[in-house]
Amino acid sequence: MLAEHMTWEEYRDVITKNLIILPVGSLEQHGPHLPLNVDVVIPTSLAKMVSEKMDVVVLPTIAYGYKSHPTSGGGQLFPGTTSLNGITLIHLMLDILRETYRHGGRDFLMLNGHYENIAFVNEAVEIFAHEVDDAKVVTLCWWDLVTDELVDEIFAEAGFPGWDTEHAAITETSLMQYFAPELVREDKIIDDQSERKPAYSIFPAPEDIIPKSGVLYKATYASREKGQKLAKQVVDAIVQIAHQEF
Ligand SMILES: [Zn+2]
Repeated sequence: MLAEHMTWEEYRDVITKNLIILPVGSLEQHGPHLPLNVDVVIPTSLAKMVSEKMDVVVLPTIAYGYKSHPTSGGGQLFPGTTSLNGITLIHLMLDILRETYRHGGRDFLMLNGHYENIAFVNEAVEIFAHEVDDAKVVTLCWWDLVTDELVDEIFAEAGFPGWDTEHAAITETSLMQYFAPELVREDKIIDDQSERKPAYSIFPAPEDIIPKSGVLYKATYASREKGQKLAKQVVDAIVQIAHQEF
């Protein structure tokens, strides 16, 4: 159910009938052990798993995202972290929503994989929702669907630092070990953190709030099994949301 693999006739026949998933990612550093496209691989893979459980159309993933913040992604100084201005991301998503709507799409699920994106995802959808009166859009971040019980289990040894700090760490590394093990540099997995984590933002970011490696927490506690559990739970939750909301 990947839109990019369909012919126009196949697309025409399914786009009006099915939930349309748009994964939203980023090109962002994820430590010395993970590729720049972690936030693309995870929501894209989750969307493909959802498509095995129900009829959906998965649009090509947005491969760039909003700017990285030092305390949730390491910030903009890492080579490869290539980000969009908020206004660019809003317009990009708006164009995709408007075009897909023009082709008959009405039910949308925006599946976000990059922490800093969500305000702009919601803004694009908010503007879109004012333009049309017969479409519905759900926006979500995959980590928000992980239950407290599974958080307790996965972080039993390391402790849970909060989702903002969970960057290139246990959950993302685990999910990459599950979805794309060939992209994980197993010998480079480390634990790291910044010297301090202020409860406010500083521009330009001082060095001591940026972890040198780009890893914000304890990636060595990751495992493929944890990734599998996370993926299953998030996919089940998305399927449930889809049935409840559409
Ligand atoms: Zn990430």
